[in-house]
Order: sequence, then structure tokens, then C-alpha cells
Amino acid sequence: MHRIQDTLTQVCSRINAAATANGRNAEEITLLGVSKKQPLDKLISAYQCGLRHFGENYLQEAMSKQAAFNAQGFGADTQWHFIGPIQSNKTKQISEHFSWVHSVDRLKIAQRLNDQRPASLPPLNICLQVNIDNESSKSGAEVKEVDALASAISKLDRLSLRGLMVIPRPPEKSEDAHLPFRHCRALMQKLNSELGLRLDTLSMGMSSDLDAAIAEGSTIVRIGTALFGERG
Ligand SMILES: *Cc1c(COP(=O)(O)O)cnc(C)c1O
Repeated sequence: MHRIQDTLTQVCSRINAAATANGRNAEEITLLGVSKKQPLDKLISAYQCGLRHFGENYLQEAMSKQAAFNAQGFGADTQWHFIGPIQSNKTKQISEHFSWVHSVDRLKIAQRLNDQRPASLPPLNICLQVNIDNESSKSGAEVKEVDALASAISKLDRLSLRGLMVIPRPPEKSEDAHLPFRHCRALMQKLNSELGLRLDTLSMGMSSDLDAAIAEGSTIVRIGTALFGERG
């Protein structure tokens, strides 16, 4: 248990330092612990150390961890975020078992999540994943599609479109690490001003680049290895 306590303290210090260095309040940044392929006991330790947001990429794995959390009485104040690629046959369970989905990149998936979100739950929080580097191989909507997608998704009443998510490709030079994050923030501001939206979330920054992401306005950092160690 002490190991997660230590890494959690380290990650929180990095978040605080990056926020302070950029004149930001660290309280506006949510730490999302990315627990895919990590054993349950590490998640439980992290919960016991105060972590309340967990990010998972694989549905079956996430659901078994959620069941264990619920059985221990940890479920009520934990928020689960789905951050992996989404197949259409998984949208029903995702809409039932998560508070957030960060990896929406096409309207068909958003429409299904909307239609399947149980009436007993609040609207599902959505980030639109943007392929900010325009890499053909990667998931994420292309920048030129984002206006139309955001506009359509914002009209779905069982979804709450909150913002954008990016996974930039590793920069060639370290000073380039900021550019995709800056671009993403500008894109969100443009959506807000041109479409009259109130997006407030930038899901950006992982273990290796959280500092650059926070400098550019990240509000959720998705941290896996720096918190939980190498994945099994
Ligand atoms: C695995 C994963 C992360 C965490 O990456 P680390 O480098 O381990 O911090 C963050 N975001 C997404 C979408 C991931 O799939």
C-alpha cells in the first residue's frame, strides 16, 4: 500500500508544481488514474489513498473491477472513465457503467451512448477524441470534422458534451511537446465561441507529458505508469 501512497504523492506534486508554474489553481485539474491492466489490489490501495477517478480501456476488465469496488462499498463515490477505443456492440454496457467517456470520435457511437444511457443516471459526460496530429493510423476525429461532430453531439440530451481529449504522438523535440495541447485548447475555445457551447474540459496529459499539458490548460490528466507502475 505504501508504494501507491508514494507515487500518488509524487504525481500530485508534479500537478501542483506545473499548475503553480503556470499561474493555475491545481484544484481545477482532476487526476484520473489509468488502471488498465493493473491488478485490483493496486486500485484498492489507490482508492484508500484518496483517488476517486479511474480510467479503463477494456470493458470486461473494467466491469469486474467495478463489481469488486461495489462489493467493498467503494463504488458510491468512485467515478469510472472509459478511455479506450469503442466498438458499437459495447456502447450499451459503457453507457450503463461509466460516468465519463473520453474516446468518442464518431457520431454513430455518440448516438448509441445517448439512446442507451439509462434514465436513472445523469447524462453521460463526453469528451470528443481529436486526432490533433492528423495521423492516419490513429483513432480520434479529424480536426476538420470536429465542428460538425461537436454540434451534433451537443444536441443529444442524454449526453453532456464536456470537451476534447487528445493523445499526441511523441514529439521529436521536447520543446514541441506543448504544440498539440495548445492547438487542442484553441480548438475548444473556437467551438465555444463559434457554436455557443460551454465546453470546460481538456483531457490531456499522460505520465510523460502531464507538465506540458497542464501548462496548456489541461483539466484532466490521465496517469497510468507514473501512478501504478508498468502494466502487467
Ligand atoms: C494507457 C493510457 C493512458 C496512460 O498512459 P501512461 O503513459 O501509462 O500514463 C492515458 N490515456 C489513454 C487513452 C491510455 O490508453
